[in-house]
Amino acid sequence: MKAVVLTATGAADNLQLQTVDTPIAIAGHVLVKVHACGVGYRDIIERRGEHPFMQTPMIQGHEFAGEVVDVGSGVKRWSIGDRVINLYTDSCGHCDQCMGGDERRCTGVTEAYGLITHGGYAEYVLVAERGLERLHEGIDYITGATLMSAVGVGFHNTLNTAGVQLGDHVLITGASGGVGLAALQTAKMLGATVWAVTSSESKCEALTLAGADHVILNTDGKFHKQLLSARGGVGVDVAIDCVGTPTINSALRSLRPYGAVVVVGNIEGGSYQLNLGMLAVNALRILGSDNVTRESLRTAMQMVAEKKLQPAIAKTFPLADAAEAHRQLEARNAMGRFVLVP
Ligand code: ZN
Repeated sequence: MKAVVLTATGAADNLQLQTVDTPIAIAGHVLVKVHACGVGYRDIIERRGEHPFMQTPMIQGHEFAGEVVDVGSGVKRWSIGDRVINLYTDSCGHCDQCMGGDERRCTGVTEAYGLITHGGYAEYVLVAERGLERLHEGIDYITGATLMSAVGVGFHNTLNTAGVQLGDHVLITGASGGVGLAALQTAKMLGATVWAVTSSESKCEALTLAGADHVILNTDGKFHKQLLSARGGVGVDVAIDCVGTPTINSALRSLRPYGAVVVVGNIEGGSYQLNLGMLAVNALRILGSDNVTRESLRTAMQMVAEKKLQPAIAKTFPLADAAEAHRQLEARNAMGRFVLVP
């Protein structure tokens, strides 16, 4: 099969289209024909070698959609022809967390797609049966390739981690990305007022069209000054930070007392430098992203099928252009998600 192999961590040029052996459906596993694979900033971070678990050579692609074309022995959940998307990892199904219905915290994970197990930048991918979820019949594959890591993460962390409620004011950094736009749509659906932050002037109008009540152009990393000025000195209830080290401090300074920031992503890697005194003075909370649970993924998928959430597909690329997709994403040219179509 054709696959884009990351030969070593580093530059986008290390992503090379190769012919490799098509995987065989071993016991407990499913062979999926990839119809679409999302390209998110997580892929860039992992490609650069900024994720401690990244292994090479590796077929990247942590978010894919496709069709089951073969099943290994013992597989109970899937049949040939089923339409599926993946989760970040598989799960063991028998640890305390899995038995308690919280497979997201499984202690027996063996696969993480595109990171320690080959992912979706390929014509076929081999996946443990618990690493998959059924794709809603009313959703096409390209949209399906944005549902987990983009839509699901934005939806789950806005609804459940942040606990956004009717009437809240919510600030979102990196609002034009796949996760940011999903967070924006979810916050609006919950009845919040959204303050979208972007560093790109060209994206301001599109963010308004996407439903943002207010758009702040971040030119100096101190967008809290614009926010507080516009709100008479009153901070927001929640900040959802999809950028990381360049925005976290201003996001914290944008909060009202007892407000919370959810740390969703850190696109530049490296350590956060924080003045924790701010937390003590204003009783602020910093919450870690919970990625997405299977339950939230199902709910988000239903919302997409009902057009209550509308995934933003920035552009599609053929498999051979994976490196170009990475370069364009690094240049912050995407409004929404890039998708590879093998
Ligand atoms: Zn488990």
